[in-house]
Amino acid sequence: MNRFSWFDATSIKEAFEQVTATVSEHIQPKGPKDAAVFKTGGVDLLDLVKEGLANPSRIVNIRNIPGLDEKSFDKKSGLRLGANVTLAEMAEDPVIRENYLALHLAVNHAATPQLRNMSTLGGNLAQRTRCWYFRSLDHECFRKGTGTCFAQDGENEFHAIMRNEDCASVHASSVATALMAFNATVEITNSKGEQKTVTMEEFFIHPSDDSRYECILKSDELITAVIVPPVSSGTKSAYIKQGARESYDWAIADVAVVAEMSGSTCKKVEIVLGAAAPIPFKSMEAIGQLKGKTINDTTAGNAARAAMEKATPLTKNGYKVDVFNAIIKRAILQLV
Ligand SMILES: Cc1cc2nc3c(=O)[nH]c(=O)nc-3n(C[C@H](O)[C@H](O)[C@H](O)COP(=O)(O)OP(=O)(O)OC[C@H]3O[C@@H](n4cnc5c(N)ncnc54)[C@H](O)[C@@H]3O)c2cc1C
Repeated sequence: MNRFSWFDATSIKEAFEQVTATVSEHIQPKGPKDAAVFKTGGVDLLDLVKEGLANPSRIVNIRNIPGLDEKSFDKKSGLRLGANVTLAEMAEDPVIRENYLALHLAVNHAATPQLRNMSTLGGNLAQRTRCWYFRSLDHECFRKGTGTCFAQDGENEFHAIMRNEDCASVHASSVATALMAFNATVEITNSKGEQKTVTMEEFFIHPSDDSRYECILKSDELITAVIVPPVSSGTKSAYIKQGARESYDWAIADVAVVAEMSGSTCKKVEIVLGAAAPIPFKSMEAIGQLKGKTINDTTAGNAARAAMEKATPLTKNGYKVDVFNAIIKRAILQLV
């Protein structure tokens, strides 16, 4: 590991005075080598450093900036989670458990208790894909902004089965799967103190649109909070993650379903798949199948099949279609 200097930012202003690049800009083959980058928990950043992909000359620790670790909730405006709230704090939060069950479950199934203690929500959303070709110094792959996607004809058992035409990496955040299903928004603050709020769909970037970035953040921008809208009293939600093993691991497939129910009739629903595509993927086909229907074995199965209609599995990951079929149906049935 190369030497780097360290700066402990005590305010957003101080942090912006130090930082020179996002990690995504820095690790591109033609990106700035002499970079000062943000760190919160450091779980993903330090992995990228150990893998030799990132080699920042300065680390700007934003973990201790006052206010960024605050959470608040009220029934009218919903839940506000500061970017530095840890996954452990979210996992234990009774308000999240009571009102946003799918989010509670997603966070509790992410990583390990030790990792959740370190990992922050902002870092989780801005982490890079775990695709082993992307993580390998030997592969100048599509997601690094150059070359080809080696997963297309390579070792692709954990890779994308949808929207995988140019790059078959999957996004690593399973927390985002649940947040998108609740129609959460991301608050971004820039170096001038200006704020914008974007939907989760706007936040993530599909590699076919720009292969160098997984999210829209620029070096003069910081996630300051995630806002989850209020839910009505009839809202029910479910989340299921399937990994290769029961203990810590990223998802092979995960799904979050959030529905406004009237008895067993689904008035409104959001169905989001994780580890299916290079970005968290809202299945409009499954949503279309379920909206306005009574939930039962048949309608849940139809929605799951509809979600997989446009799947384009690769040579070694066809099994993921069956896994998604099973967990989508199971998650929908958990609503009644
Ligand atoms: C073994 C293992 C299993 C895992 N399993 C899962 C899982 O199942 N589900 C899941 O979702 N995650 C999983 N993770 C990922 C883990 O949750 C993330 O690595 C972690 O959330 C990153 O958070 P961090 O605070 O450590 O980010 P850091 O490593 O500090 O930062 C990550 C990136 O975000 C940027 N950044 C950080 N904060 C901000 C901010 N506020 N604004 C803008 N940019 C910012 C940094 O510059 C860096 O580029 C796993 C990790 C490991 C090691």
